[in-house]
Amino acid sequence: MESFFVDPKNIRNGLAKIEGEEYHHLAHSLRKRVGERILLFDGSGKVYMATITKITKEYAECEIINENFMLGEIEAEIAVAQAILKNTDRFEFAIEKLTEIGIKRIIPIITSRVISPKSKIDRWQKIILSACKQSNRAIIPEIDEPIKFDELLEISSKFEIKIIFHESESTEFKRGFLFDHLKKIKNANSIILAVGPEGGFTEDEISKAVRFGFEVVSLGQRRLRSETASIVGAGVIAQFIFANLKRKEIEDCRR
Ligand code: SAH
Repeated sequence: MESFFVDPKNIRNGLAKIEGEEYHHLAHSLRKRVGERILLFDGSGKVYMATITKITKEYAECEIINENFMLGEIEAEIAVAQAILKNTDRFEFAIEKLTEIGIKRIIPIITSRVISPKSKIDRWQKIILSACKQSNRAIIPEIDEPIKFDELLEISSKFEIKIIFHESESTEFKRGFLFDHLKKIKNANSIILAVGPEGGFTEDEISKAVRFGFEVVSLGQRRLRSETASIVGAGVIAQFIFANLKRKEIEDCRR
């Protein structure tokens, strides 16, 4: 069943009004008809099952059948500070996959080895909205305007768990493994994961991050592409938290 984004202000008295690009997608690209069922999400955590009741030249109207809250969402705020990649297709691939796997916030970062720190926030937001619709996300992840690495360190104190992924050992700091931190992650409300650009983080950036309380974490001996590291690292953590939640829900039901 197709999903459409609807602004919360267009949902009133059990009716939802779809307009703008979402309306054009519904009426003209997908040629939806009155009577058909669709999923609506308002981006703040609610997902509605609805039936199309009217299609005019400007908007479509739907009657809401039922609503779910936080469908498939995890409470914890997992944020990924993803270095802007020279290869824009790879960067856009990363933000699309991070959206699908349940990340709540993406912070594009400019580190010393970032080649082209250009902000394409409008395009990035469109990619995120489309990934939300495709994956039936109840929440639309936020994407920030790009910030410098030092600014990331400044704001990182807001996160309970701070992880920076790094592909090589150093005498200055020991790399742990993701699984070493899963116990802490299980109960965390906010986690920030930092992933470097194609050329990686500098030793100086890693040392600074350690001083700001980041754990340096390895994702194994192979040298992953930035987008791979981002998706693997965030994916393992999101799945672990989600599975843990489900296990807790099942246990609660058994009591
Ligand atoms: N510096 C290397 C690789 C950089 S890969 C090079 O010159 O090719 C880009 C980013 O992916 C790294 O900054 C790191 O955040 C992450 N990454 C890649 N492989 C990793 C691994 N095995 N463990 C942890 N992080 C990794």
